[in-house]
Amino acid sequence: MQHLLNLSLAELRQWLADQGLPAYRAAQIHKWIYEKRAGTFGEMSDLPKDLRERLAGEFTIFSSAITTHKTAEDGTEKLLLQWPDGHRIECVLIREGKRRTICISTQVGCAMGCVFCASGLDGVARNLTTGEILEQMLLLNRIQAADERLSNIVVMGMGEPLANLDRLLPALEQAGKPEGLGIGGRHITISTVGLPPAIDRLTGMQTNYHLAVSLHAPNDELRNQIVPVNKGISIATILAAADRFFADNGRRLTFEYVLLGELNDRPEHAEELVELLRGRTALLNVIPYNTVAGLPYKTPSTRAQEKFLNILRDGGVNVQVRTRKGDEIDAACGQLRRSFPQPATGTSGLLDIEAMQKP
Ligand code: SAH
Repeated sequence: MQHLLNLSLAELRQWLADQGLPAYRAAQIHKWIYEKRAGTFGEMSDLPKDLRERLAGEFTIFSSAITTHKTAEDGTEKLLLQWPDGHRIECVLIREGKRRTICISTQVGCAMGCVFCASGLDGVARNLTTGEILEQMLLLNRIQAADERLSNIVVMGMGEPLANLDRLLPALEQAGKPEGLGIGGRHITISTVGLPPAIDRLTGMQTNYHLAVSLHAPNDELRNQIVPVNKGISIATILAAADRFFADNGRRLTFEYVLLGELNDRPEHAEELVELLRGRTALLNVIPYNTVAGLPYKTPSTRAQEKFLNILRDGGVNVQVRTRKGDEIDAACGQLRRSFPQPATGTSGLLDIEAMQKP
Protein backbone atom coordinates (compact mmCIF):
# COMPACT_ATOMS: atom_id res chain seq x y z
CA MET A 1 0.00 0.00 0.00
CA GLN A 2 1.21 3.50 -0.82
CA HIS A 3 0.97 6.39 1.62
CA LEU A 4 -1.27 8.85 -0.20
CA LEU A 5 0.17 11.83 1.70
CA ASN A 6 3.54 11.17 0.06
CA LEU A 7 2.02 12.10 -3.31
CA SER A 8 1.75 15.74 -4.30
CA LEU A 9 -1.44 16.93 -5.96
CA ALA A 10 0.34 16.72 -9.33
CA GLU A 11 1.46 13.16 -8.63
CA LEU A 12 -2.04 12.14 -7.61
CA ARG A 13 -3.38 13.65 -10.83
CA GLN A 14 -0.80 11.64 -12.73
CA TRP A 15 -1.75 8.45 -10.93
CA LEU A 16 -5.40 9.01 -11.80
CA ALA A 17 -4.52 9.76 -15.42
CA ASP A 18 -2.42 6.58 -15.61
CA GLN A 19 -5.50 4.65 -14.47
CA GLY A 20 -7.57 6.29 -17.20
CA LEU A 21 -9.44 8.30 -14.56
CA PRO A 22 -10.24 12.01 -14.64
CA ALA A 23 -7.42 14.05 -13.11
CA TYR A 24 -9.82 16.53 -11.52
CA ARG A 25 -10.67 13.90 -8.95
CA ALA A 26 -7.32 14.66 -7.31
CA ALA A 27 -8.50 18.09 -6.16
CA GLN A 28 -11.70 16.53 -4.82
CA ILE A 29 -9.70 13.99 -2.82
CA HIS A 30 -7.46 16.73 -1.41
CA LYS A 31 -10.50 18.77 -0.43
CA TRP A 32 -11.82 15.83 1.53
CA ILE A 33 -8.53 15.27 3.30
CA TYR A 34 -7.40 18.83 3.99
CA GLU A 35 -10.64 20.71 4.32
CA LYS A 36 -13.26 18.20 5.38
CA ARG A 37 -10.87 16.27 7.62
CA ALA A 38 -11.78 12.90 6.11
CA GLY A 39 -10.00 9.84 7.42
CA THR A 40 -11.20 7.23 4.92
CA PHE A 41 -11.99 7.05 1.21
CA GLY A 42 -15.42 5.70 2.16
CA GLU A 43 -16.42 9.15 3.42
CA MET A 44 -15.71 10.82 0.07
CA SER A 45 -19.32 10.76 -0.97
CA ASP A 46 -18.96 12.72 -4.21
CA LEU A 47 -16.51 10.17 -5.65
CA PRO A 48 -17.90 7.18 -7.57
CA LYS A 49 -18.02 4.06 -5.43
CA ASP A 50 -15.66 2.10 -7.67
CA LEU A 51 -13.06 4.89 -7.48
CA ARG A 52 -13.30 4.93 -3.70
CA GLU A 53 -12.73 1.18 -3.70
CA ARG A 54 -9.76 1.42 -6.06
CA LEU A 55 -8.18 4.15 -3.95
CA ALA A 56 -8.73 2.12 -0.80
CA GLY A 57 -7.07 -0.86 -2.44
CA GLU A 58 -4.02 1.15 -3.44
CA PHE A 59 -3.50 3.81 -0.75
CA THR A 60 -3.67 4.48 2.95
CA ILE A 61 -4.52 8.04 3.98
CA PHE A 62 -3.15 7.69 7.50
CA SER A 63 -0.43 5.13 7.86
CA SER A 64 0.14 5.41 11.61
CA ALA A 65 -1.74 4.01 14.55
CA ILE A 66 -2.48 6.50 17.34
CA THR A 67 -0.94 4.64 20.26
CA THR A 68 -1.69 7.24 22.92
CA HIS A 69 -3.78 10.41 22.98
CA LYS A 70 -3.34 12.55 26.08
CA THR A 71 -5.01 15.82 27.02
CA ALA A 72 -3.60 18.24 29.58
CA GLU A 73 -5.65 20.59 31.71
CA ASP A 74 -4.46 23.62 29.73
CA GLY A 75 -5.98 22.09 26.57
CA THR A 76 -2.72 20.80 25.13
CA GLU A 77 -3.14 17.44 23.40
CA LYS A 78 -0.38 15.02 22.52
CA LEU A 79 -0.49 12.12 20.10
CA LEU A 80 1.93 9.24 20.11
CA LEU A 81 1.98 7.75 16.63
CA GLN A 82 3.35 4.38 15.56
CA TRP A 83 4.40 3.94 11.93
CA PRO A 84 4.10 0.60 10.11
CA ASP A 85 7.80 -0.14 10.80
CA GLY A 86 7.13 0.09 14.53
CA HIS A 87 8.90 3.40 15.09
CA ARG A 88 7.08 6.00 17.12
CA ILE A 89 7.03 9.78 17.28
CA GLU A 90 5.00 12.43 19.05
CA CYS A 91 3.21 15.57 17.99
CA VAL A 92 1.29 18.18 19.95
CA LEU A 93 -1.66 20.59 19.61
CA ILE A 94 -1.35 23.71 21.78
CA ARG A 95 -4.32 25.99 22.47
CA GLU A 96 -3.73 29.62 23.46
CA GLY A 97 -6.67 31.93 23.08
CA LYS A 98 -7.70 31.67 19.46
CA ARG A 99 -4.33 30.32 18.43
CA ARG A 100 -4.04 26.65 17.52
CA THR A 101 -0.40 25.78 17.22
CA ILE A 102 0.84 22.35 16.26
CA CYS A 103 4.29 21.13 17.14
CA ILE A 104 5.49 18.47 14.74
CA SER A 105 8.38 16.02 14.53
CA THR A 106 10.72 15.51 11.59
CA GLN A 107 12.76 12.47 12.64
CA VAL A 108 12.41 9.37 14.79
CA GLY A 109 14.69 10.49 17.62
CA CYS A 110 17.49 12.98 17.03
CA ALA A 111 21.21 12.79 16.31
CA MET A 112 22.22 16.19 17.71
CA GLY A 113 22.75 14.88 21.25
CA CYS A 114 21.76 17.99 23.28
CA VAL A 115 22.41 16.68 26.79
CA PHE A 116 19.21 18.03 28.36
CA CYS A 117 16.72 16.93 25.69
CA ALA A 118 14.65 13.76 25.82
CA SER A 119 14.31 13.39 22.06
CA GLY A 120 17.94 12.54 21.40
CA LEU A 121 18.51 10.16 24.30
CA ASP A 122 18.49 7.12 22.04
CA GLY A 123 19.91 8.72 18.91
CA VAL A 124 18.08 8.88 15.62
CA ALA A 125 16.53 5.94 13.80
CA ARG A 126 15.40 7.58 10.58
CA ASN A 127 13.99 10.62 8.86
CA LEU A 128 10.23 10.97 8.58
CA THR A 129 8.79 11.11 5.07
CA THR A 130 6.88 14.10 3.72
CA GLY A 131 3.70 12.07 4.12
CA GLU A 132 4.48 11.27 7.74
CA ILE A 133 5.09 14.95 8.48
CA LEU A 134 1.78 15.90 6.81
CA GLU A 135 0.01 13.10 8.61
CA GLN A 136 0.86 14.64 12.00
CA MET A 137 -0.67 17.94 10.86
CA LEU A 138 -3.81 16.25 9.59
CA LEU A 139 -4.33 14.06 12.64
CA LEU A 140 -3.94 17.07 14.94
CA ASN A 141 -6.33 18.98 12.66
CA ARG A 142 -8.89 16.22 13.16
CA ILE A 143 -8.81 16.17 16.97
CA GLN A 144 -10.01 19.77 17.08
CA ALA A 145 -13.65 20.76 17.47
CA ALA A 146 -15.37 21.52 14.15
CA ASP A 147 -15.14 25.28 14.75
CA GLU A 148 -11.44 25.26 15.57
CA ARG A 149 -8.80 25.98 12.90
CA LEU A 150 -5.07 25.38 12.98
CA SER A 151 -3.27 28.72 12.87
CA ASN A 152 0.43 28.06 13.45
CA ILE A 153 3.03 25.37 12.96
CA VAL A 154 6.20 25.04 14.98
CA VAL A 155 8.70 22.49 13.78
CA MET A 156 9.99 21.86 17.30
CA GLY A 157 9.07 18.25 17.94
CA MET A 158 11.45 15.32 17.76
CA GLY A 159 14.40 15.59 15.43
CA GLU A 160 16.50 18.26 13.76
CA PRO A 161 14.38 19.78 10.98
CA LEU A 162 17.33 21.11 9.02
CA ALA A 163 18.74 17.58 8.84
CA ASN A 164 15.59 16.53 6.96
CA LEU A 165 14.77 19.59 4.87
CA ASP A 166 14.10 17.65 1.68
CA ARG A 167 11.09 15.99 3.26
CA LEU A 168 10.02 18.85 5.47
CA LEU A 169 9.80 21.55 2.80
CA PRO A 170 7.22 19.86 0.55
CA ALA A 171 5.09 19.18 3.65
CA LEU A 172 5.22 22.84 4.72
CA GLU A 173 4.48 23.94 1.18
CA GLN A 174 1.37 21.78 1.11
CA ALA A 175 0.33 23.08 4.55
CA GLY A 176 0.66 26.63 3.23
CA LYS A 177 -1.63 26.25 0.24
CA PRO A 178 -5.13 27.66 0.60
CA GLU A 179 -6.41 24.28 -0.53
CA GLY A 180 -4.03 22.63 1.95
CA LEU A 181 -4.25 23.81 5.55
CA GLY A 182 -3.93 27.48 4.66
CA ILE A 183 -1.12 28.09 7.15
CA GLY A 184 1.26 30.49 5.40
CA GLY A 185 5.01 30.75 5.95
CA ARG A 186 4.63 33.68 8.32
CA HIS A 187 2.83 31.38 10.72
CA ILE A 188 5.45 28.65 10.52
CA THR A 189 8.56 28.49 12.70
CA ILE A 190 11.42 26.10 12.05
CA SER A 191 13.63 25.55 15.07
CA THR A 192 17.20 24.38 14.53
CA VAL A 193 20.22 23.45 16.58
CA GLY A 194 22.07 25.56 14.01
CA LEU A 195 23.42 23.80 10.92
CA PRO A 196 24.97 26.59 8.81
CA PRO A 197 24.94 24.92 5.36
CA ALA A 198 21.26 24.05 5.77
CA ILE A 199 20.44 27.56 7.05
CA ASP A 200 22.15 28.94 3.93
CA ARG A 201 20.14 26.58 1.78
CA LEU A 202 16.94 27.84 3.36
CA THR A 203 18.10 31.42 2.83
CA GLY A 204 18.65 30.69 -0.85
CA MET A 205 15.11 29.40 -1.18
CA GLN A 206 13.51 32.74 -0.37
CA THR A 207 10.91 31.27 1.94
CA ASN A 208 9.17 33.40 4.52
CA TYR A 209 9.42 30.88 7.32
CA HIS A 210 10.46 32.10 10.70
CA LEU A 211 13.75 30.65 11.93
CA ALA A 212 14.54 29.92 15.57
CA VAL A 213 18.08 28.98 16.51
CA SER A 214 18.65 26.98 19.67
CA LEU A 215 21.63 28.72 21.22
CA HIS A 216 21.66 27.61 24.88
CA ALA A 217 25.10 29.03 25.66
CA PRO A 218 26.92 32.32 25.11
CA ASN A 219 30.33 30.77 24.34
CA ASP A 220 31.65 27.74 22.51
CA GLU A 221 33.23 26.12 25.54
CA LEU A 222 29.87 25.83 27.29
CA ARG A 223 27.91 25.15 24.13
CA ASN A 224 30.23 22.27 23.21
CA GLN A 225 29.31 20.70 26.55
CA ILE A 226 25.55 20.99 26.32
CA VAL A 227 25.07 20.92 22.54
CA PRO A 228 27.81 18.47 21.48
CA VAL A 229 27.19 18.96 17.75
CA ASN A 230 28.54 22.49 18.24
CA LYS A 231 32.12 21.15 18.39
CA GLY A 232 32.30 20.95 14.64
CA ILE A 233 30.37 24.16 14.03
CA SER A 234 30.88 27.09 16.51
CA ILE A 235 28.56 29.88 17.56
CA ALA A 236 30.20 32.44 15.26
CA THR A 237 29.50 30.31 12.16
CA ILE A 238 25.89 29.81 13.21
CA LEU A 239 25.32 33.50 13.91
CA ALA A 240 26.85 34.41 10.56
CA ALA A 241 24.45 32.04 8.77
CA ALA A 242 21.53 33.33 10.86
CA ASP A 243 22.48 36.92 9.94
CA ARG A 244 22.48 36.02 6.23
CA PHE A 245 19.02 34.48 6.65
CA PHE A 246 17.78 37.61 8.37
CA ALA A 247 19.35 39.93 5.79
CA ASP A 248 17.56 38.02 3.08
CA ASN A 249 14.16 37.23 4.51
CA GLY A 250 13.81 40.20 6.87
CA ARG A 251 12.04 38.28 9.56
CA ARG A 252 13.14 38.82 13.08
CA LEU A 253 15.47 36.09 14.26
CA THR A 254 14.63 34.12 17.33
CA PHE A 255 17.20 32.49 19.55
CA GLU A 256 16.16 29.88 22.05
CA TYR A 257 17.94 29.46 25.35
CA VAL A 258 17.04 26.59 27.66
CA LEU A 259 17.84 27.77 31.15
CA LEU A 260 19.61 25.01 33.07
CA GLY A 261 20.13 25.56 36.80
CA GLU A 262 23.75 26.23 37.73
CA LEU A 263 24.90 25.40 34.23
CA ASN A 264 24.12 28.24 31.83
CA ASP A 265 22.07 30.54 34.09
CA ARG A 266 24.82 32.54 35.80
CA PRO A 267 24.90 36.35 35.65
CA GLU A 268 28.11 36.21 33.61
CA HIS A 269 26.35 34.07 31.02
CA ALA A 270 23.61 36.68 30.72
CA GLU A 271 26.25 39.41 30.34
CA GLU A 272 28.04 37.43 27.64
CA LEU A 273 24.74 36.91 25.85
CA VAL A 274 24.09 40.64 25.85
CA GLU A 275 27.42 41.13 24.08
CA LEU A 276 26.77 38.33 21.63
CA LEU A 277 23.35 39.60 20.57
CA ARG A 278 24.25 43.29 20.55
CA GLY A 279 23.30 44.94 17.29
CA ARG A 280 21.03 42.11 16.18
CA THR A 281 17.32 42.44 15.63
CA ALA A 282 16.58 39.35 17.58
CA LEU A 283 14.21 37.91 20.11
CA LEU A 284 15.65 35.70 22.82
CA ASN A 285 13.23 33.05 23.89
CA VAL A 286 14.20 31.78 27.31
CA ILE A 287 12.83 28.34 28.15
CA PRO A 288 13.21 27.28 31.78
CA TYR A 289 14.34 23.66 31.66
CA ASN A 290 11.50 21.16 31.61
CA THR A 291 12.46 18.12 33.62
CA VAL A 292 13.25 14.93 31.78
CA ALA A 293 13.10 11.72 33.82
CA GLY A 294 16.55 10.25 34.29
CA LEU A 295 18.46 13.45 33.50
CA PRO A 296 20.30 15.35 36.26
CA TYR A 297 19.51 18.91 35.13
CA LYS A 298 17.62 21.39 37.25
CA THR A 299 15.11 24.12 36.52
CA PRO A 300 16.57 27.35 37.92
CA SER A 301 14.73 28.94 40.84
CA THR A 302 12.37 31.80 40.02
CA ARG A 303 14.90 34.15 41.58
CA ALA A 304 17.75 32.92 39.41
CA GLN A 305 15.51 33.18 36.34
CA GLU A 306 14.54 36.75 37.21
CA LYS A 307 18.13 37.75 37.76
CA PHE A 308 19.17 36.28 34.42
CA LEU A 309 16.31 37.95 32.58
CA ASN A 310 16.90 41.33 34.18
CA ILE A 311 20.52 41.43 33.06
CA LEU A 312 19.38 40.69 29.52
CA ARG A 313 16.63 43.32 29.60
CA ASP A 314 18.98 45.91 31.08
CA GLY A 315 21.40 45.08 28.28
CA GLY A 316 18.75 45.89 25.70
CA VAL A 317 17.98 42.33 24.62
CA ASN A 318 14.43 41.62 23.59
CA VAL A 319 13.55 38.63 25.80
CA GLN A 320 10.52 36.48 26.26
CA VAL A 321 9.98 33.55 28.58
CA ARG A 322 8.32 30.62 26.91
CA THR A 323 5.42 29.52 29.01
CA ARG A 324 5.14 25.88 29.72
CA LYS A 325 2.40 24.01 27.94
CA GLY A 326 1.30 20.48 28.52
CA ASP A 327 4.12 19.54 30.86
CA GLU A 328 1.99 17.21 32.94
CA ILE A 329 1.59 15.02 29.85
CA ASP A 330 5.30 15.39 28.96
CA ALA A 331 4.37 17.42 25.90
CA ALA A 332 6.47 20.48 26.75
CA CYS A 333 9.68 21.43 24.95
CA GLY A 334 12.29 18.72 25.10
CA GLN A 335 10.00 16.17 26.68
CA LEU A 336 9.08 14.37 23.49
CA ARG A 337 11.03 11.16 23.42
CA ARG A 338 11.45 7.69 22.11
CA SER A 339 10.63 6.58 25.62
CA PHE A 340 9.12 3.34 24.54
CA PRO A 341 10.53 0.03 23.37
CA GLN A 342 11.71 0.41 19.78
CA PRO A 343 11.71 -2.41 17.27
CA ALA A 344 15.06 -4.03 16.59
CA THR A 345 15.87 -2.83 13.11
CA GLY A 346 19.21 -2.50 11.42
CA THR A 347 18.85 1.25 11.22
CA SER A 348 18.48 2.00 14.94
CA GLY A 349 21.16 3.89 16.76
CA LEU A 350 23.14 6.95 15.92
CA LEU A 351 23.61 7.86 12.33
CA ASP A 352 26.67 9.72 11.21
CA ILE A 353 26.13 13.35 12.23
CA GLU A 354 28.13 14.60 9.24
CA ALA A 355 25.77 12.81 6.92
CA MET A 356 22.73 14.18 8.75
CA GLN A 357 23.96 17.73 8.24
CA LYS A 358 24.22 17.50 4.49
CA PRO A 359 21.31 19.36 2.98
N1 SAH B 1 16.20 20.20 16.99
C1 SAH B 1 15.56 21.47 16.97
C2 SAH B 1 14.07 21.44 17.31
C3 SAH B 1 13.59 20.63 18.50
S1 SAH B 1 13.68 21.21 20.13
C4 SAH B 1 16.30 22.45 17.84
O1 SAH B 1 17.29 22.07 18.45
O2 SAH B 1 15.92 23.61 17.88
C5 SAH B 1 12.70 22.61 20.38
C6 SAH B 1 13.31 23.45 21.53
O3 SAH B 1 13.14 22.82 22.83
C7 SAH B 1 14.80 23.62 21.36
O4 SAH B 1 15.20 24.93 21.59
C8 SAH B 1 15.34 22.68 22.40
O5 SAH B 1 16.64 22.95 22.75
C9 SAH B 1 14.34 22.87 23.53
N2 SAH B 1 14.44 21.84 24.57
C10 SAH B 1 14.96 20.61 24.45
N3 SAH B 1 14.93 19.96 25.63
C11 SAH B 1 14.36 20.81 26.52
C12 SAH B 1 14.02 20.71 27.91
N4 SAH B 1 14.25 19.59 28.58
N5 SAH B 1 13.45 21.77 28.50
C13 SAH B 1 13.18 22.89 27.79
N6 SAH B 1 13.45 23.03 26.48
C14 SAH B 1 14.04 22.01 25.85
